[in-house]
Amino acid sequence: MLDEIRESVFRANLDLVKHGLVVHSWGNVSGRDPETGYIVIKPSGISYEKLRADDMVVVDLSGKIIEGKLNPSTDTPTHLLLYRTWPGIGGIVHTHSTCATAWAQAGRNIPALGTTHADTFYGEIPCTRKLKAAEVKSDYEVNTGRVIIERLSNMDPLHMPSVLVYGHGPFSWGTTPEQAVYNAVTLEEVARMALYTILLGKDKPVEKYLLDKHFQRKHGKKAYYGQSKN
Ligand SMILES: [Zn+2]
Repeated sequence: MLDEIRESVFRANLDLVKHGLVVHSWGNVSGRDPETGYIVIKPSGISYEKLRADDMVVVDLSGKIIEGKLNPSTDTPTHLLLYRTWPGIGGIVHTHSTCATAWAQAGRNIPALGTTHADTFYGEIPCTRKLKAAEVKSDYEVNTGRVIIERLSNMDPLHMPSVLVYGHGPFSWGTTPEQAVYNAVTLEEVARMALYTILLGKDKPVEKYLLDKHFQRKHGKKAYYGQSKN
């Protein structure tokens, strides 16, 4: 089972490059093994061209290395806090993708301007507060996780599968690493569309009944989008 998750986390990391979400080594994907509960994450600072499935690092929820010769991503403590807080998530992606990062740098939530947004995100995509100097000075990565949890405190993380960390960039998640990548790609597209829409003079959210319809038909109890699973 660990082999399976190691392979899917490796593929998901390469998918970030394929979808144009990362340059250099700026980004990481992790995944949770449903059997052991261990987290598999990209190693720190290894370029995507050189990355192999065997390089993935396995840690437990406290960050102790279980398998792997390399150091895990420096963002590991952020990922681990999210996994500990939200048992329903199984994959996390962090990138500095251009449009989502532009919103994070502006410190602005992304309003729900249309149905592309509403298909994945139930409401405006939140931006965290600024980290205080002391929060940056020590335990920076854990504190990054803390402001994310704080910002999402009244939301179901699977109804709002992304956040913008103020002055930094986006984190996305899902039930699997693949779904987290899907949500990160969607976030970048939605962030780009929102920039254009605001440029054209509209910054008010789309009507609530349209937002509800689009989110519910994909994710609600009576979801009917796509092919029947039976
Ligand atoms: Zn970052």
